[in-house]
Amino acid sequence: MIEARDLRKYYGSYEALKKISFRVEKGKVYSLLGSNGAGKTTIIKIITGLLKADSGTVFIDGKRSDSDKSIKSRFGYMPEHPDLYDRLTGREFLCMNGRLHKVKEKRLDKKINRLAGELNISEALDSEMGSYSKGMKQKILFINSVLHDPPNLILDEPTGGLDPRYTAYLKNQIIDMADQGKTVLLSTHITSVASAVSDEVAVINGGSIIAKGTPQQLMDEKNVHSLEEVFIEVVKDG
Ligand code: ATP
Repeated sequence: MIEARDLRKYYGSYEALKKISFRVEKGKVYSLLGSNGAGKTTIIKIITGLLKADSGTVFIDGKRSDSDKSIKSRFGYMPEHPDLYDRLTGREFLCMNGRLHKVKEKRLDKKINRLAGELNISEALDSEMGSYSKGMKQKILFINSVLHDPPNLILDEPTGGLDPRYTAYLKNQIIDMADQGKTVLLSTHITSVASAVSDEVAVINGGSIIAKGTPQQLMDEKNVHSLEEVFIEVVKDG
């Protein structure tokens, strides 16, 4: 379970988040859908502890993120921008993080090989990551986020550098993980991704949630047939 309660964030005098609240229940996929600069990454960075909110509280599985450090092992995180260590190989990076999360060696090896195979990057695993394309880096970051089998997953623009085939793979993975009881929070500006995977969607604009509900509820409210049309309508109204 992931909960954000009244999150506020200023960058200087600019109010980037204006009292954002939402709750993602166990086994559900929740999408933050917003245009560039809406505040999605700021929300995600606060939830993962990379940024400090000016006020408000984050709970992961009922535990306050600012007072309980044990929550760090309770989520996996895939950042939007793949800033990786150029001189490490993909395998070295994944093994290092898997060990930090105390994943057993045999299991770690098996999981890295299986996921790298599914994502078609097995042959690159032993090359330095400085030579990887953006999509390859995204794939490494996805594998990294699930290595320790966390109960919560936080994915910031996960399909950013991926071609349609691996976008489809990732959408299926997200749905499967929710079916296994994991809680998934993702940010995207791609309405087709949000539409395919989400139990609930929050449309973010200018640091506020301007609409939320299931994709069907949002479409019914606006009397339209796609999340893309919902997005255009609510951003126009909002
Ligand atoms: P994108 O889809 O483009 O990644 P986003 O919805 O993730 O956008 P954020 O990155 O959270 O948006 O940014 C929200 C707002 O805060 C934007 O107007 C952005 O310019 C501003 N902002 C973000 N980081 C900083 C910073 N470090 N200093 C000043 N302003 C910032």
